[in-house]
Amino acid sequence: MIIAVASGKGGTGKTTVATSLALAIAADGQPETDRAQAADSASVLYLDCDVEEPNAALFLNPVLEHREQVGILIPRVDHDRCTYCGRCAEVCVWHAMAVVGRKVLIFPELCHGCGSCTLNCPEGAIDEVVHVMGMLESGRAGPIAFGHGILNVGEAMAVPVIRQLKESHGAKSDHRVTLLDASPGTSCPVVETMRGADFVLLVTEPTPFGLHDLRLTVQVARDELNLPVGVVINRDGVGDMGVESYCAAEGIPILMRIPLDRRIARAISEGKTLVEVLPEYRPRFLDLYAQIAGILASGREVR
Ligand code: SF4
Ligand code: SF4
Repeated sequence: MIIAVASGKGGTGKTTVATSLALAIAADGQPETDRAQAADSASVLYLDCDVEEPNAALFLNPVLEHREQVGILIPRVDHDRCTYCGRCAEVCVWHAMAVVGRKVLIFPELCHGCGSCTLNCPEGAIDEVVHVMGMLESGRAGPIAFGHGILNVGEAMAVPVIRQLKESHGAKSDHRVTLLDASPGTSCPVVETMRGADFVLLVTEPTPFGLHDLRLTVQVARDELNLPVGVVINRDGVGDMGVESYCAAEGIPILMRIPLDRRIARAISEGKTLVEVLPEYRPRFLDLYAQIAGILASGREVR
């Protein structure tokens, strides 16, 4: 089962929920003494897809054993063969090339690596070189298999790094559950994270801002990607009833509520997870997982 955890609005507690859900599932039915040795048979895969600002590692403390660079192929022009005809700039829908007089300018940060310029150059003056955009790191966090992507500073496109992160770990692998921790917002990186998921868990807070961004995220996940969604209300009890009313009107299940609690805020600030500090939440996260499994079992096949 692949669960994407998203929030729309930043700072709602998405990673708090995702990390504790992962820990609760991974420890489910496992004796305490076996948990640390369970690395080879991890039932949970956690992928932090917030590649512009990955922070799940701060809470799960994985031992990162593997690193690989992520890049795309961008054009390189042979100026001895180039006639400066401008065809490459014409076909580049991303405006990553420009021909100005007797100069061909390439903007690597805008290039999507589609290869169109290379194919369309009448002189065969373009070949391709690797442009490194970021890094993947992976390892183990106790019983959890862990991976995250890191986009290089100054790079504009997070999607290739997220795609490579998911592909390199095989999101449909033999792990019982894969958790995809999405970035805030509803733009391309979030869509790429959600793509291929079985369920999208939306973490929000009961405020007008939380509701505004929840609506946008539901539009993307449920209305455009056609994925089942459920909501976790964090800091329950503050704000107003707008999120409740919206979920009721839209038929979106509220699967869990986490009240505003100073102990949780302190734990997060110290780099601890919710279930570490408040173990009584473990069964609540297992119940959250069971509800998701139940929704999927009742409505569609679970991969
Ligand atoms: S299409 Fe080829 S020949 Fe024409 S400007 Fe571009 S690189 Fe030069
Ligand atoms: S590879 Fe595609 S996106 Fe990149 S410069 Fe060439 S045409 Fe533009």
